[in-house]
Amino acid sequence: MEAAVIGGTGVYDLSPGSRTETVNTRYGAVQVDIVKVGVKEVAFLARHGKSHSVPPHLINYRANMKALKELGVKYIYASAAVGSCNCRFAPGDIVVITDFIDFTKARLATFYDGGEEGVAHVDMSDPYCKNLRKRFYDAANREGLNIKGDAVYVCTEGPRFETAHEIKMYRQLGGDVVGMTSVPEAVLAKELGMCYAAVGIITNWCTGIDSEGVKLHDIKGLMAKTGEKLTRVFVKVLTGDLSQENCSCAGALVKM
Ligand SMILES: [Zn+2]
Repeated sequence: MEAAVIGGTGVYDLSPGSRTETVNTRYGAVQVDIVKVGVKEVAFLARHGKSHSVPPHLINYRANMKALKELGVKYIYASAAVGSCNCRFAPGDIVVITDFIDFTKARLATFYDGGEEGVAHVDMSDPYCKNLRKRFYDAANREGLNIKGDAVYVCTEGPRFETAHEIKMYRQLGGDVVGMTSVPEAVLAKELGMCYAAVGIITNWCTGIDSEGVKLHDIKGLMAKTGEKLTRVFVKVLTGDLSQENCSCAGALVKM
């Protein structure tokens, strides 16, 4: 199958007629739900594990992305719960991620550690596939799903939330939303030549932005309601005709 959806919090419900496969990779085993949609199949991966038990800083990102690659996946939509540090984006809003700023500290963030794999650098001029982003906007429009706009994602190590001055700094650097999972997920997808786009669901204001402090706005309810619509739009695009001709994702890796 060529298409996959990586669910953020709560966005990985199974539809009838699907099956679960375990994919063994050199980085570990990964469980993937495979859902038949018309004549096509779409792989669904629960980023935090099926029971949502793996915290963001301990996710085996390399195993996850390698498993999708081994299934033949070329196109991936990911959703993620994010906090907002931009007053334009309020809890409940949906944003399309266009770029990231990486503040993670202790993660395995590449397949290229020298040795057998060699040395390589990956182009980050378009970390989120521009073709998939455009397709998402078009399909969301047709499905009546309101998208608030483009956003720059700040990735923190977690699992703690940020301090008020960290958020102040992120805003000054041009960050709009803050999450803990898009790096290295987006980077690893690119290293494997897959098209990857991510959509954020705002679940809270970041520290210091709102006087009420970090209060998660009914994450489960929000993710169930918004996540279901979002998944429908993802699947609409992913089961249509896609190609890698109009983006640079397949050739972003420069081997030394
Ligand atoms: Zn692409």
